[in-house]
Amino acid sequence: LRGVVALDGPSGTGKTTVARMLAAELGAGFLDTGAMYRVVALSALREGVDLADADAVAALARRVQVGIGTDPGQSRVLLDGDDVAEQIRTEPVNVAVSPVSAVPEVRRLLVAGQREIIASVLGSAGGIVVDGRDIGTVVAPDAPLKVFLTASAEVRAARRTAQDSAAGRQADTEAVLASVRRRDELDTTRATSPLRAADDAEVLDTSELTIDQVVAALSELAKR
Ligand code: C5P
Repeated sequence: LRGVVALDGPSGTGKTTVARMLAAELGAGFLDTGAMYRVVALSALREGVDLADADAVAALARRVQVGIGTDPGQSRVLLDGDDVAEQIRTEPVNVAVSPVSAVPEVRRLLVAGQREIIASVLGSAGGIVVDGRDIGTVVAPDAPLKVFLTASAEVRAARRTAQDSAAGRQADTEAVLASVRRRDELDTTRATSPLRAADDAEVLDTSELTIDQVVAALSELAKR
């Protein structure tokens, strides 16, 4: 693979899982941009920053060191040097990440960081699969392949419930569906880079597809 594969879409489409698998298959790098927003959200929760105070959240984002690995075989997520790969997947972070990612300064800082990481991986590996919400529209608008993954809210909630129980966390389907819908609403209506498909993105509905089928479809597109 040469260049960037931009993989965007709402939560619960299996985006991060398929992005990682696709990168491994193509011998490319992998960047989970959602994890970066989650690190800032986790830090805000730990420091008791008022999430409604955009200036305070922006100041925090300028202070924290967000470390992220690009090896699809090994996930590495660091907050000021500490591994927080598990802590960023908890429900408090699921809730806090939307207001945090709506702060323009947070997006500016993280998008700049993402572009640096992408440039550095392109310089060595030659290709990178990047998953997020604004990769095809903002972070890498020149990406030769952009795919927007969708799935019904019910399917996405069911997937997250399954993920939660596999991880040993209690999951209530109704509550998860409500949380998925709330995050969709916040992500698509925020003023700064709202979630939407790029005009030149391929839209792939994953509702009826297994993870392997999605990876196979993406792999076909990447080889075209
Ligand atoms: O993909 P994931 O569910 O980990 O993303 C968590 C949150 O981070 C999203 O709900 C969204 O608010 C934010 N996000 C974003 N831009 C990205 C990636 C994630 O705003 N590129």
